[in-house]
Amino acid sequence: MGRSETPGQLAFAQVLHAAPKPGVVPVRIGGLWGVSPADPQEGPRRALEAHLSRSVGAPLVVSITDNRRTMLSIRREGALRRVRLHHMFLDAPEGVLDAVGRYLSHGEEGAGRSIDTFIAENQHRIHRRRVPRRPWATRGRVFDLSAVLASLVGRYFPAMAPVAVTWGRSASGLRTSSRRRTIRMGTYYLDEALIRIHPALDQAWVPLYFLEWVLYHELLHHVVPMPVINGRRCYHTEEFRTRELAFEDYTRARDWERRNLRRLLASRDG
Ligand SMILES: [Zn+2]
Repeated sequence: MGRSETPGQLAFAQVLHAAPKPGVVPVRIGGLWGVSPADPQEGPRRALEAHLSRSVGAPLVVSITDNRRTMLSIRREGALRRVRLHHMFLDAPEGVLDAVGRYLSHGEEGAGRSIDTFIAENQHRIHRRRVPRRPWATRGRVFDLSAVLASLVGRYFPAMAPVAVTWGRSASGLRTSSRRRTIRMGTYYLDEALIRIHPALDQAWVPLYFLEWVLYHELLHHVVPMPVINGRRCYHTEEFRTRELAFEDYTRARDWERRNLRRLLASRDG
């Protein structure tokens, strides 16, 4: 049950903070925003740069981004720190800027938490990539994914941000290797807020609770923060694993998976 993204180009860059919620694109660093003299953000950017230089006590260049995923990152060039901040920080309260300063100078953990809170409160300012309109296939031969989704959302994620769900086409999720074959039963596409379920699960002998389990796992990717630690995104965090256990048919579903994986693999696209 993977996802579409791969870690971005993180060489020489340390990603400090990412949006605490998915639904946005993979980490991308590089490609500064061009700043024209007439840019209305230039004044606030300079003020922010001056503020942070003062609190860090070191030369620092601030670039403003419209990133969807990485809200704050820093790159060092000798004594110079290049800091990239999402535009939401342009009018952040003084306390948040002080926290950013403390975080930049010595990675203070408490400071990180208050930055996370600020980012979480400003989620609505993170630009979402437009999803190309295409008819997602929710109605399978056996299961209607929109109904399964609605039921799970009602029971487990009543406050969840919208997510789309679709049956995958054909056997594209199947992988064969020399040692073993695996099936990617569900995939969460971060940048599209889309979950694709393997069509092999759309069969009458597959119990509803197992399909629900696969979808539940992918929904957790949609709602549980995926922090970047040492430049690597963590998908299955401790919180994630704990919340998996909250699925009411957890044991039954895992057990069914063990007993039927071979059959699922053999059935390919059903
Ligand atoms: Zn997963």
